[in-house]
Amino acid sequence: MLLTLSTSHQPATDLGYLVHKNPARMQEFSLAFGTARVFYPEASEARCTVALLLEIDPVGLVRNRRGPAGEGRSLEQYVNDRPYVASSFLSVAIADVFGSALAGRSKDRPELVAQAIPLNASLAVVRARAGGEDLLRRLFEPLGYLVETEGYPLEEMFPEWGDSPYFTLRLSATKTVKELLTHLYVLIPVLDGDKHYWIGDDEVEKLLRHGEGWLSEHPEKELITRRYLKHRRTLVDDALDRLVSDADVGVDDPQASDAMEEEEVERKISLNEQRLGAVLAALKQSKAAKVLDLGCGEGRLLAALLRDREFTEIVGLDVSHRALEIAADKLHIERMPPMQRQRINLLHGSLIYRDRRLEGFDAAAVVEVIEHLDPPRLAAFERAVFEFAKPGTVVITTPNAEYNVKWETLPAGKFRHSDHRFEWARAQFTAWASGVAERFDYSVRFAPVGPEDEIVGSPTQMGIFTRV
Ligand code: SAH
Repeated sequence: MLLTLSTSHQPATDLGYLVHKNPARMQEFSLAFGTARVFYPEASEARCTVALLLEIDPVGLVRNRRGPAGEGRSLEQYVNDRPYVASSFLSVAIADVFGSALAGRSKDRPELVAQAIPLNASLAVVRARAGGEDLLRRLFEPLGYLVETEGYPLEEMFPEWGDSPYFTLRLSATKTVKELLTHLYVLIPVLDGDKHYWIGDDEVEKLLRHGEGWLSEHPEKELITRRYLKHRRTLVDDALDRLVSDADVGVDDPQASDAMEEEEVERKISLNEQRLGAVLAALKQSKAAKVLDLGCGEGRLLAALLRDREFTEIVGLDVSHRALEIAADKLHIERMPPMQRQRINLLHGSLIYRDRRLEGFDAAAVVEVIEHLDPPRLAAFERAVFEFAKPGTVVITTPNAEYNVKWETLPAGKFRHSDHRFEWARAQFTAWASGVAERFDYSVRFAPVGPEDEIVGSPTQMGIFTRV
């Protein structure tokens, strides 16, 4: 496992004081599960990089593992990704080897500790199975990092096997070393999911302590908490309860100005939730009972539809098997009481083909999907939905490209998601949607979703089509 941390703050070699390690020599630390080495691949006034290389002994780990008696040892216990993938072992090593820096202490440069400096961190290999690159962005971008990822095929010789869950992750931001190390300390095990040590009550304390000042505001705080605490229900509930009250304390602070409060509130209701709310409202307004969620992804809208008795037949369709698996899991489809189970169905299929299973519905939602289609496929999508499935109402949302200038973490000219094939300005979406409506005998109206800016509009744009 390899973590490197670089700065261009000058003199860059001050990094050595911040992490309490002398750039002039390599140091070695013996840990319970392996050996950590700290060295500097570069150390000049202009730029300095410290590397933490952690070698663990996977065979030793198996031997020491106290599994149930008689448990067989499969090959996988010996041949696995544990030596390479940044995991909770690396977090422990960060805490052991960079303990003072993580606590925000520096004997020789106390004044530098609180100073945000330009930092780059690189994790040679991280594993992000569910959600891949998207998850990496969702975890780090809200914290203000510029996120760069490099994915790898499962096997270079056989590209048809698809992508591996492994990525090289590069983060850049202007932060204190303490902040950066703290974020890594918490989020590395969240990514990996394979926490090696027993999760006890003190893990909740650890999470809250290291999460102080950022976790309660993080849009993915639930996912982070669940994964960090390895889905242990009571611990997760406890941590989330306490995280929420943390945030409340902030808002109630009499020192906080109204403007700050407003900002907090806006951030709290995430764009995702606002979008979900807007789509749900449009579907309800159409009086639909039988509804489609086309490109349902992991099923957030499906969950909301299920909670509303007015929707008697709910079908989610997606091209991704994996997304459908996650949706089925999140909705607890297997454990649903029969009455509830009858209301919902998940279908594997693609929106660019005619699909008879989609006929006869009152309404369809297509939320943040069209921008994932190759532009030459859009015509096929239009026919599949508006000519063949032909629901009474179609609600389509897509990003408003004009709003991108407002995302602090989004470099100019970049899309919000690497899988987006296009992002449209309002005029482009309106022109496309009006054309579709005209060709397939629908009327269409438009609504903004999310905080509206006078000049660039709202982050999401929505078109509501009604069959005439
Ligand atoms: N509607 C969901 C997911 C949006 S992400 C939400 O708002 O959370 C886009 C989704 O569209 C992904 O799940 C992707 O698998 C799906 N998708 C992309 N191309 C598709 C196609 N041709 N047919 C069906 N689904 C598709």
